[in-house]
Formats: sequence, structure tokens, C-alpha cells
Amino acid sequence: MPRAEPATYVTDLTHFDGALDPGSNAPAPAKKLAKFFDELVRVASRESLGTIRTDVRCFKKPARRACSGRIVTTRSRSREDISWECPSCGNNGIIHHWRGSKADLSRYARPEVEVQKKRTGPVKAFEGDWLITEMELWDLDAIELLGPGFFRFDEEQSGELQFIAVRGWLDCRYGERDGLPLVEFSWQGDDEGTEASGRGWAVVDQDGKLTGRIFFHQGDDSSFTAARTKKALRPN
Ligand SMILES: [Zn+2]
Repeated sequence: MPRAEPATYVTDLTHFDGALDPGSNAPAPAKKLAKFFDELVRVASRESLGTIRTDVRCFKKPARRACSGRIVTTRSRSREDISWECPSCGNNGIIHHWRGSKADLSRYARPEVEVQKKRTGPVKAFEGDWLITEMELWDLDAIELLGPGFFRFDEEQSGELQFIAVRGWLDCRYGERDGLPLVEFSWQGDDEGTEASGRGWAVVDQDGKLTGRIFFHQGDDSSFTAARTKKALRPN
């Protein structure tokens, strides 16, 4: 599955001011891009923070066929911009200066104080990157087909995973099991260009390792072990 070198679009949203106004004389490709960014910002700005799998379609046409990917956006606590990525082709970018634009719906976002409250408790035990070291069904060569196999748990309830040809986004709930911090999650993503989904759980054990089990919807399931890492494991 060699894929084309993904392009990174760095966008200042103010450059598209007025492109979508009625009577705008912006060229068609600019209007198309403006509409793409407008849609992304509308979705991403409504959420306080975290990763969102949007319905916005990728605009890439690898091998002249429209990419079937739907864009994932991320807003993190530490950064003001909105980053986005196509899980199918790797097309990605960063949107600056979206605040105050027509697409900025942050006034409808949940208040930050609610987010703060959610971060205390078991989520703290998971937050960050975990490198997958072992899985029941696949050896390390297979696990690292796309790069390091990993789980990432973000602020709030979102996260990411990658192993073999699977990339996915997590929706997490935190709690406790037998005195250990517990995360239960559903995941949705992409397995070599095919939509994939499932569920899973993990605990942080006494040795500080992440151990759990991941299930594919109507498919395989496998135990896994992962270790905390400071390295940023996200591709690109
Ligand atoms: Zn794409």
C-alpha cells in the first residue's frame, strides 16, 4: 500500500474572506477550497477540543479517482489552530485564523470549564501516547506496517489508534476495574481504504503497562500490550 507523499495545506482562513459570498468572483477552484475549509471550521469550532471524524469529503483525486476519505479534525489544548487529515490518503493541513470567521461556531461550543472537569480522574492515567509492543494476532513487523503501532488518548474522550493497516479514532469512557484505571472505547476508522470499526478496553496495570483487548466489528479480536512513550507517534 505505497501511498503518494501526502500534501500539507497551511491555510490562513482570512485569505478566503468573501470567497463564498454571493456575487464573489473568486475562481472556481478557490471557491471549492473555501467551501471545504468553511465546512471543516464549522464542525471543528463547535467542539471545545479533541478529534472529530467529520462528514466532510476529502478533495484529493489519487489516480484521478475521487478519494473516498472523510476528514478528521483535531483541536488541542496547546494550539489555537485546527489541524485536519484524510485517513484514506493522508492529505492534511492546518487552518490558522479561523476565529471570528463566518464559519467560527465556537460560541456554541460547550464551555471549557466542563472540559476541565472531565480531565480529572482515570483519564489522567491514560492521556498521551502508547507504543504497541505486543499483540496476540500479529507480530511486530505486521503491527508496524504503517509505522509505529500506537494508541493515543487525548484530553476529553477522544483518541487514536494505528496498527497493521488500521487507523482509527476512539470514543473513550474512563473508569476503574479491580482498582486499576480502565478505558472502554469504540473505534471507527480505515483498514487499507475500507471502513472499519469496533470496540475495546484497556487497563493500566501495576507495572504501568497498557494491556487490553481490541475487537473488530464482526471480525477478529486480539489482546495487546503497549508502553508509554514520549515520542510523538502520529504519522507526518
Ligand atoms: Zn483523501
